[in-house]
Parts: sequence; structure tokens; C-alpha cells
Amino acid sequence: MSIPTQELVINFHMTEVCNYRCTYCYAKWNDNQFRNELHLQPGQVEQLLSSLADFFLSANPFKQEFPYQTVRINFAGGEPMVLGKQFINALDTAKALGFRTSIITNGHFLTPDMLQQSSSKLDMLGISFDTADELIAQSIGRADRRGHWLNANQLVRIANTYRQLNSKGQLKINTVVNPFNWYENMSSLIAQVQPDKWKLLRVLPVHDVRQVITSEQYQAYVDRHAPHVSNLIAEDNDAMWASYLMINPQGRFYQNNGPEKGHLLSDPILKAGVEQAFSQIPFDFHAFANRYTHGVKS
Ligand code: SF4
Repeated sequence: MSIPTQELVINFHMTEVCNYRCTYCYAKWNDNQFRNELHLQPGQVEQLLSSLADFFLSANPFKQEFPYQTVRINFAGGEPMVLGKQFINALDTAKALGFRTSIITNGHFLTPDMLQQSSSKLDMLGISFDTADELIAQSIGRADRRGHWLNANQLVRIANTYRQLNSKGQLKINTVVNPFNWYENMSSLIAQVQPDKWKLLRVLPVHDVRQVITSEQYQAYVDRHAPHVSNLIAEDNDAMWASYLMINPQGRFYQNNGPEKGHLLSDPILKAGVEQAFSQIPFDFHAFANRYTHGVKS
């Protein structure tokens, strides 16, 4: 039976590098392979995007089983904007190939200039924002080496500027509910920012089981905000396993393998080809479609 959905989302984690140090961060591919990240080799990111377009934007066996209308490349990291011009080039390439585009960023590099360069090309701007409290932000590690963090006023300014520059774009906030922020109340800030979606993710213990929170703590956070925020989307751990289509900085498909078990990797896409590499990792069509059906898109 085919599973209807409108948009297939491919999360391309362009780099492992990030200026923040979140304690729960799972954007780590273990073996210090920064030197092998695709963007370091001229033309490789463009080639990867082009291969993905050849497969996913034309008739393919996967599409028969899982009909979709559009494909969105979601740039993620690490922090994709640390790559500056290379990120903008990748964004331009993805657009030119016919993808819809989005980013999930910690917002730190969204200067007025970067917003000018990127907003009109981003169909969705996703900002990860866990707390409006500086002490909590520092405890989580959502700050750079000098202690600079993205505060609530900056978030509001970025949201307003993005909307001015791209009236059709969607704004999304991702919040990871974790051991440091589960008791906080961000209702008034979210009401001010008015994101098109506010996604609450329960911290995922891929590398370190000490980061877990209880179901009750997570549910308390959701319940505290739900009456005040209309477009809140709760995504507990169960909805996350194998329901994302992800590519790592070295250009391999991957999936989270389970709590504390790290990642399962395909061969490099540029060597094996998209179809062969894609067949090497689990991808749960039903879980993906369910997330879509409930309005959740990464
Ligand atoms: S901002 Fe994102 S990529 Fe950076 S350390 Fe935090 S969770 Fe990891």
C-alpha cells in the first residue's frame, strides 16, 4: 500500500563543527572525521546535491511506494552557518536543482547580512532555541567559548527580519526538552515570536544515557505550554527513531541506532550511488508519514 505524503525531507548535516557545546548534542560522528567532510573538497557538496536531485526528483522505486510531491533539503549540522559562503553556495545549488530548502540553525550567525543573503532562499527557517534563561543556556552549553548565547530579544529580532525578507517563508522553533530546562515556561516568548511551528523534542540519548528526562518531565513541559500555544508539536523519542532521512558530513546516509548505540552508516553516496546507499540504512516510511500527517516536518 502506498503512503501519501506531500514532502520528502532530506536532512543534510553539512558539518559536525558547531560554536556551541550542548551537553546532549548527538551531531557527532565519532571518529573525528572533520577533515573528511565533503565541503572541504571543492565541488563535492554540489555533486552530492546533484546526485540526490537525479534520484529523488525523478521517477524512482522509492517514490512509487512513498508518493511525494516535493523534496526539501534541510541543512543541519553541527551549525551549517559556520561554513559561511560555502553554506550559501550549497543553498543556491539546492534551489537551482529544484529542491525546496530549509535550515536548522542555532541562530548565532544570523547577522543582518546573513539574513539578507539567505532569507529569500530559505522556504523554512528553523531555529533551535531551548531557553530564554541565560543560566540555563550556559548549563546546557548553548553558548560559545566566550559565553555568548542567543537571547530572547535576538530571537524576536531574527524572526521579524526573516518575515520582512520572506513573507512566504515559514518560521519554526525547535526546543529540546532536557534535564536543565524541563521546568521552564516559555509561553510568553513563543507568543511574541509566533512561529509557524514550535516543535518540542524530548532529548535523545544517542551517546549518553545521563541526558534522559522522564516521560512525566517531558509531558509536564508539553502540558504547561499546550494551552497557550496553538501550533505546538510534541515529538517524543519513539517518533524519532528511523523516521528521519539523514546524510552525515561525509556524505553517507545514517540512522540513529538506538539509545547509546551511536549511528548506523551507509557507504559514501558519491561512491555507491544514491539508490544503493539508501538501501543500506533503515528508514521507516510509516513513522515519517505519521510525523507528516501530524504536521511534523523536520
Ligand atoms: S547547537 Fe546544535 S549542533 Fe551545536 S552543539 Fe548544540 S545541539 Fe549540537
